Amino acid sequence: MISVKQLNKRFGDKVVLDDISLTIGEGEVVAIIGPSGSGKSTLLRCLNLLEKPESGVIQIGDVALDTASYNAKEEHALRGQTAMVFQNYSLFRNKTALENITEGLIMVKKMAKAQANQTGMQLLELVGMAPQAHQYPVTLSGGQQQRVSIARALAVKPRAILFDEPTSALDPERVHEVLQVMKSLAQQKTTMVIVTHEMQFAKEVADRVIFMADGHIVEQGPAEQVISFSDNPITRRFLRQMT
Ligand code: ATP
Ligand code: MG
Repeated sequence: MISVKQLNKRFGDKVVLDDISLTIGEGEVVAIIGPSGSGKSTLLRCLNLLEKPESGVIQIGDVALDTASYNAKEEHALRGQTAMVFQNYSLFRNKTALENITEGLIMVKKMAKAQANQTGMQLLELVGMAPQAHQYPVTLSGGQQQRVSIARALAVKPRAILFDEPTSALDPERVHEVLQVMKSLAQQKTTMVIVTHEMQFAKEVADRVIFMADGHIVEQGPAEQVISFSDNPITRRFLRQMT
């Protein structure tokens, strides 16, 4: 489903992703963990070309692209394969929860308004936000906004959803409701790549954990194995600091 080969990214002189290669299967849930500054967000953002890598090949679904040279059409095609959920929700403030979802369907997918509304309501139902469909983001809690963001990501039927610390801006009592939604997506075999600091959640939901440090993949494996039983000293030191 997702394959990355020898991806390299620098900011100025600093190497942020150093020859990263990985594959993610259809329906697989992969958590990316690692210290601050290790390149987790940059890796996610390279997958949809929000950041431009220097080199490497990215394949998602049936779109493959050589990051060293590509045109606008290829970029558009690759970007269409994924949707991203950010830490800070990033909803349109001047649109209701429902309009946040239907906007892309009407403008980009050219869906008729009535059908977009129907699809939007189904998705809000799915994330438990149907009662708030006509509210504006400012009237919603962080957890509620994040659930709308997830519904919006699902609306474009991406091949995979990329999450960058989806719960880290939330009040602790709101974390659970967002994790619950992600858990149900995982059960439905949605392909997900999740940068997270929630080790317990990663253990419960992720099929595989990738541990990054300094722009490298230090180790990867079944979530339980990496988080509870790693014998890699760098991984262990990181996990000790997390708890
Ligand atoms: P965190 O856990 O704090 O979110 P991260 O693993 O997501 O960290 P990145 O945000 O990918 O780390 O950053 C990796 C490195 O790249 C860091 O050293 C960061 O300072 C640098 N970096 C990220 N974005 C930029 C940018 N736009 N310009 C310059 N340097 C950047
Ligand atoms: Mg980050």
